[in-house]
This record gives sequence, C-alpha cells and structure tokens, in this order.
Amino acid sequence: MPLNAKTRRKRGKRLVVTLLSGLLPVLLGGVILYMQAERTLQQSTELTAEEAVRQFELILDNTAQAARELLPLAGQPCNDVKLALREQVTRRPFVRSTNLVWDNNIYCSSLFGDYQEKISAGDYSKGQLLLMKGNPVTPDTALLVYRLSEGKQGAMSTLDGYHLSNVLRMIGRKTVLLLQVGPNWLSADGAFHEGVLMASPVAPIELTSSRYAFEVAAGFPKGETWRYMSSEYPPLFSLLIFFGMVSGAIGHVLQKRSSSPSHEMQRALESAEFVPYFQPVVHGDTKTWSGAEVLMRWNHPKEGLVRPDLFIPFAEHSGLIVPMTRSLMRQTAALLAPAASSFDGPFHIGINITASHCKDLDLVEDCREFLSAFAPGAINLVLELTERELIEPTAITHQLFEQLHALGVMIAIDDFGTGHSSLGYLRQFNVDFLKIDQSFVAMIGVDALSRHILDSIIELSAKLDLGIVAEGVETEAQSDYLAAHGVNFLQGYLFGRPMPGAEFINALRHH
Ligand code: C2E
Ligand code: CA
Ligand code: CA
Repeated sequence: MPLNAKTRRKRGKRLVVTLLSGLLPVLLGGVILYMQAERTLQQSTELTAEEAVRQFELILDNTAQAARELLPLAGQPCNDVKLALREQVTRRPFVRSTNLVWDNNIYCSSLFGDYQEKISAGDYSKGQLLLMKGNPVTPDTALLVYRLSEGKQGAMSTLDGYHLSNVLRMIGRKTVLLLQVGPNWLSADGAFHEGVLMASPVAPIELTSSRYAFEVAAGFPKGETWRYMSSEYPPLFSLLIFFGMVSGAIGHVLQKRSSSPSHEMQRALESAEFVPYFQPVVHGDTKTWSGAEVLMRWNHPKEGLVRPDLFIPFAEHSGLIVPMTRSLMRQTAALLAPAASSFDGPFHIGINITASHCKDLDLVEDCREFLSAFAPGAINLVLELTERELIEPTAITHQLFEQLHALGVMIAIDDFGTGHSSLGYLRQFNVDFLKIDQSFVAMIGVDALSRHILDSIIELSAKLDLGIVAEGVETEAQSDYLAAHGVNFLQGYLFGRPMPGAEFINALRHH
C-alpha cells in the first residue's frame, strides 16, 4: 500500500523511541542492580562491624578479667603484689602489662615494679578505656588501656594494639574497618589517629559496643559499588541487555503498527486530506446534467491523489469510513450549497455509503444536516449502497430506512448485477434506483451474455418502477444503446470524469 509517508523526521523519531524502549529497561535494571549492590555492601559492613564489636568485646573481657582480679590488691605494697601483676600478664593472652593505682596514681607496674605516674580519669573514655599512640617502652605501637576503679583503688590492664589491628585486618578484609575509643582511633595497618573520624563513602556504619566504651566504624572506599557490580553481576548484565533488545524490538514493532494504514488515515482525517470529487450524471435522453456522484479522494501530502479503492477497504476495516463519509458530506454541502441556484430542477447528489454506516441511526442525522444546507426541493440526496455488501434487515435498519425515506433521502443499489440482491430485498428497503455496474456497460456490443443481463436489469427496474443509472459509459455506442433501452441516467467518462469541487461548479454553471 503506497500510503506510508515515512518522512525523515518520523523515522528519526521512531529510531529515538526504539532506542529509548531498548535503553529504558537497561537503565532501570542498572539502577535496581546498583541499589541492590549498595544494599548488599551495607549488609556486609553491618555484619563486619557486628563481628568486630563481638571480637573486641571478647578480647576486652579477657583484659578486664585481669584488672578485676588485681583490683582488691590495690593499696598493698608493690613488692607484695608485683608477682601477681606479672602472673596476669603471663596467663592472659592479650594482656601486655598490668598496673595498680591508688588515688589516681599508678604506683606499681608489671614491667617496672615500683613506679609513679599520675593519671586523670577524664582521659579515659567513660572512665574506662584509653587508646594510646604508644608508651615509653614501645612508643610506636598503639595500645589500649582498660581501667577499673573503686574508691581509691584502681587496676589497669593494657592490650597490645597489634591484637586489635589484627582483628581489624582479619575481619575487615575488603571493608575499611576502624576502632574508635574516645577521640582516638586505630586503623587496620596498626596506625593511631586522633581527631574526627572520616566516614567511609560507601555503605558507612558506626556501631557502639553496649559493654565497653568503644565504637567500630566500617565502610568501603569510593567506587566499591561499581567494582562489586562488575565482579558479581556480569550474568545479570547480559540478561539486562537481552531484555533491552527484546523491549527495543517490541517498541519498534509497536511503532510500526501505530503507523499502520488506519493510524495514517486517522491522521489524514484530522488534517482534512479526504476530499470530494464530483462526477456528473446525465439524463439518458437529453444528456443534460441531472446530478453528480460524490467520489472520495485522498489528497495525500506525499503520494498525491490516492484512489478510493486503495484506502476505502482499510477505512471500512478500521471503522473510520463513518467519520470520513461524514466529513465528505459536510464538504460537499459547503461546496454545492452556494451553487444551488444553478441547479435545473432537483439535483441528484449520490453519496457512497457502506453497510457499517447503517448500524445505527447516526446516518439519519448526517443526512438531515446535509439536507439542511440546501433549500427544500433543491436536491435529491441519493445514498448508494453497493450490492456486494448488503445490509442485514434488522429492527434498526428498518427504522433507519424508514426515517431516511421520511426525510426524502433516496436509496440506490450500486454495482447492481455483481451481487445477489433479491426482489424481496429491493422492496424491503424501498430502493429508488439501480446503478448498473460498469462491467455490463463495457460489454455492450462485445459480449452477448452480458448484454442479456443488462437487458434483464433494465426490464426489471422498469417493472419495479425503479430509476436506473448506467455507470462507466465511455462510448457513444454505449450511450446510444442505453438511451434506446430507456435508461434514465448515464454516468461515465463520456460525459465527464470525476473532478474537484471548484472545477465541477465551474462546469455546472456552463451547463
Ligand atoms: P463506484 O461507487 O462504483 O464509483 C464509480 C467508479 O467508477 C469511480 O471510481 C469512477 O471514477 C469510476 N468511473 C466513472 N466513470 C467511469 C468510466 O467511464 N470508465 C471507468 N473505467 N471508470 C469510471 P473511483 O472514484 O475510483 O471509486 C471507486 C470506488 O470507491 C467507488 O466505486 C466506490 O465503491 C468507492 N468509493 C468512492 N468514494 C467513496 C466514498 O465516499 N465512500 C465509500 N464508501 N466508497 C467510495
Ligand atoms: Ca457509487
Ligand atoms: Ca459502481
């Protein structure tokens, strides 16, 4: 069908829509996968932080136990208790040193024995824990001091930072894991830091121990979400791309469908591309113009003038034929009404109507509107119904034809002789005219059988008192034959081809 005007812009738009319908699922899927990856990483840091807190608490339990056992000894002379202090260091795997305190003063140390150092409880987070960069013995190894006090008595046990950073390293693996005590913190490389802790950019979490005064911070370095996706999701990516391709293909097919003939015709209807052409119908005897048949043309912006048999079947199929005919009738009324003064007696205006237009009573309104454009008696509106597509006699159609006749609208059976309407049918619908199909006219003087049929039709119409119109009259011989046989009206190229409205009105004035 040479009707699809595929302009470059349209094709461009279609390509964009196809690309979008292909990309959209990929992008959406990508976003969902990204969110899923972030969730997975978040869960992973949560688990890691929980595990780290658990491990640190276990280590601190061990360290705190040493301090608890030593606390009752605080106040006794250092010489008497220093062995007990060393025993704790030896017995407990994580304890590096122990100290006894009296009145905020360290007076006895597992390492030095008698020793003097003032301490301030305020340095300790919740009076309990202090993370230090090092001590005079090992200035570069961080250590964690656990302090226990009761009245003036106090005991302290220290934990080597090595154990702590070990835990951070082993549990953390790919996660950035930090131990924070008060304002100080320790990283997995064993380094001691002071000041505000920088939150990790990806899946950050901070978890506070419910039992000791420390916190664990976990997270991932920048770009980890993408790295995770590229290592874990390749099969899902392939699936996404597959879906994208399927969706793009569906988008493409749907658009192709939407630019189907009926959509194209809907567009054409909206931009008034369907226009009426007029072919004169003449009196059989005088050959003066008795009327015209309105024939639809598609004034296509790309294809030029399109013949009705190329698009009417699609219009019927899509139901667009009804609004198209309505538009044609309005245009016809607008064109012919101003020229009505040049009509010599009632002018026949034939409009082709399809069966689908007769399903309800809308046609009555369309005809009423059409007739109201003309002075009463100026025209005869003739609806042409093709014999190939006969109307079912139902309650509605009977009502329709009654109302049409009441309005003065006439009915013609088009292409008569090619279908199989019975006499009963002709009576039932109160038919006024028969239009002899042009195939019979073309056979005049050529084929004896066709001429026989033609003669019978003419005879029949006379018996039924029906007007008769012969279509497709191209030669004088045909015209003479038909006139001699009493055919009332003739239509064909011999008298005039279908022509645009302005040309028709011009010609009408000259007749
Ligand atoms: P139709 O109703 O039988 O219309 C007569 C067709 O014969 C017209 O073709 C006309 O141009 C053509 N014709 C007229 N005189 C001659 C002639 O001397 N020799 C030859 N060979 N052909 C002649 P057209 O305009 O191409 O229309 C074709 C068909 O399309 C029409 O056949 C009609 O069935 C349909 N049609 C046209 N306009 C409409 C419309 O508005 N509504 C509907 N439903 N159908 C329409
Ligand atoms: Ca017709
Ligand atoms: Ca015909």
